[in-house]
Amino acid sequence: MKAKVFGVSRSYGDLQNIDIIENRSVQCKSGLPSRYQRGKFLGKGGFAKCYEVQDLETKETFAAKIVSKSSVTKPRAYAKLRSEIAIHKELHHEKVVKFYEHFEDAEHVYIMLEVCPNRTLNEFMRRRPPKRLMEPEAMFYVYDLILALQYLHRRRVIHRDLKLGNLFLDKNMRLKVGDFGLAAQLEFVGDKRRTICGTPNYIAPEILEGKHGHSFEVDIWSLGVIIYTMVFGRPPFETSDVKTTYKRIRMNQYSFPDSVRVSGQVKELIGHILQTDPVKRPSLGNILNSSWLCSSRLPPAMPDSIGLWATSRG
Ligand code: ADP
Repeated sequence: MKAKVFGVSRSYGDLQNIDIIENRSVQCKSGLPSRYQRGKFLGKGGFAKCYEVQDLETKETFAAKIVSKSSVTKPRAYAKLRSEIAIHKELHHEKVVKFYEHFEDAEHVYIMLEVCPNRTLNEFMRRRPPKRLMEPEAMFYVYDLILALQYLHRRRVIHRDLKLGNLFLDKNMRLKVGDFGLAAQLEFVGDKRRTICGTPNYIAPEILEGKHGHSFEVDIWSLGVIIYTMVFGRPPFETSDVKTTYKRIRMNQYSFPDSVRVSGQVKELIGHILQTDPVKRPSLGNILNSSWLCSSRLPPAMPDSIGLWATSRG
């Protein structure tokens, strides 16, 4: 089978025997190198299983994301893994899950990441009644997310899969953006991407339209969906089937439920962000200066209400 990945024609028939990053990743004999001891299971994604591991020499803990090579034989899956590693390993920011190293054996690729023992904002919101965030809590996390996005966009990286499930929580319940499997690094600022990707509830209308390509504004759209979901407890365009959700996104059809009392400022910001025309969406700087984030209610430190719910405590 032949396929195009990064403009290079490659054969995937013998993927088991080729390196993921063109011989630049370290080969290990089989399994994790012996200095790492495998600990508890952290979670499973589309391709990866993730375990907590400890470096027996330094006693440091990491999250080891383990991908079976047999699960990435399809060109798209292979390209996704290659691109995830290539993009994530160059990112160094306090609000981005730290990438330490990667290596592979004949059967697996191992990605060593900063461990986020409190899982993601998605699980946090599901397990804590009333299953939504109070506005000061939401502001606190949105502020961190904007800092991460400013860094990514400065580096011409579009995340393209921003959602609560990709906003990880470290041991102090601070936000870290993770999962760069759908991220794209643009060659220049005006460049556009055309691949249809994302998670249904959070996907921007211009990705669904697919006519003119998309750019950094798709992350701004997802940020709007995230703010809405944080304060109302469910995504704005959610329905029971994906086609109807896509139709609602294209028609920009959502409302603010009366059952949840939120400030006019947050509604105004959501309305400003969730605009079909990407050019009309505010910049990250405008969002930071919005009356919602500039209101005196932005907590200087993490609200106690969040810290009490850390799963990794004690
Ligand atoms: P995939 O790329 O296959 O979708 P993910 O990146 O979603 O894999 O990782 C799978 C799961 O592993 C996540 O849903 C999460 O539960 C867990 N996980 C991933 N990265 C970390 C991390 N840095 N710290 C803790 N758990 C993690």
